[in-house]
Amino acid sequence: MIKKERKLPIIILQYEALLRRIPANHPKRPHILEELAKSKAGFNGEKSLDYQLSSIDQKKYHIFHDLRLSSEDRNFQIDSLIASKNLFIVLEVKNISGTLYFDEKFSQLIRTKNGEETGFADPYLQVGRQEALLRNFILQHKITCPPIKGFIVISNPSTIIKPTSKMIRNGTKIIHSAALPLELKNLETNHQTPILSDKELKKLSSILMKKNILLIREILTKFKIKESDLIKGVYCTKCMQLPISRVHYSWVCPKCSGTSRKAYVHSLIDYALLISSDISNKQMREFLQISSDTSALNLLRILNIDHSGETKGRRYHLTSLIERYRDGLL
Ligand SMILES: [Zn+2]
Repeated sequence: MIKKERKLPIIILQYEALLRRIPANHPKRPHILEELAKSKAGFNGEKSLDYQLSSIDQKKYHIFHDLRLSSEDRNFQIDSLIASKNLFIVLEVKNISGTLYFDEKFSQLIRTKNGEETGFADPYLQVGRQEALLRNFILQHKITCPPIKGFIVISNPSTIIKPTSKMIRNGTKIIHSAALPLELKNLETNHQTPILSDKELKKLSSILMKKNILLIREILTKFKIKESDLIKGVYCTKCMQLPISRVHYSWVCPKCSGTSRKAYVHSLIDYALLISSDISNKQMREFLQISSDTSALNLLRILNIDHSGETKGRRYHLTSLIERYRDGLL
C-alpha cells in the first residue's frame, strides 16, 4: 500500500513563485525557467514509475515516495522506498534522455545527446549513500535493518543504456522502469525470510512518516536575487495578476475582475517558499501590502496556524499552508 503519496515537489512551487514575483525582464528569468523544466521532467519521470508500482502486491509492500530524512545530521532523499518485512528497496529515478554511459573509473554518468556530451553525478554513489544513511536511520530507532537493495531506474523508455563491464555495483542495479515488477519478483524469490515482524514494519512506517522533513531551499540565495527585487502584494489565483486590490474584506483583480477573500493565503505561501517559513505581523503587512495591523492579525487568525512568541515578536508558522496547498485543500 502507498504510505506516502508523491506530491508536487516544493522546489517546483518555489520556481513558480519566484517567476511570479520577479519583473518580466529580470535577467535570471531564463535560468529559473531552465531549472523549472528540469525539475518538472524529473517529477514526470517519478510519476511514470507509479504505473509500474501499481502492479506489485500492495498488501506485501509499504511504498513511500519522496522521503526526506536525516541521520547523523546528514539529510538524504529517496525517490521511492519499497519496504517489506523481508527487504527494503531504494529507487533512484532518472529521467534523462539520450544515450547513457556509466564511467566507473571516474565515477560519473555521461549522457550523449545530439552529439553533445553532458556529465551527471554518479547515481551509484548516490544510491550507496542513501542506503548507508537509511540503514543508520533504522538502527538508530532500535529496529533490525532488513537487507537494502538499490535500483537506478531509467524512466524514459527511449533512453539507451550502454553496457559497461559491471551493470551491478555494490548491489545496485540499473534498469528501465518497465523491468521493475520482474526485478521485484526475483528479489522476492531470493529473500523469503522475514526479518521484521508485522508490528516492527508498522512501527518503522510510522517513524518514516513522522521524521520526514519538509525541505524548503534558500532559493533567493541560489539565484542571487535580493528580497527587495520581489514584487510585493497579493496575486490573483485566476489570472496571476500581481498585485490586486483589497476592497473591504476581499481582494479584487483589476484584470479579470475575479474576487476572493482567500487570495492572500496563496501569497503567504509565496512568502514561505521564497523568504521564510515563518512571518511576523509587520512582515506580512509589508509583503502583502496591507496597511492595518488589526486586519493582518484577523487574516492570520482565520488561518488557525501555529505560532510562537508573544505580542510584537510573535511569529506565525507557514509550512502547514504549503502542505494544505500540496494536498489540494487550498
Ligand atoms: Zn485576475
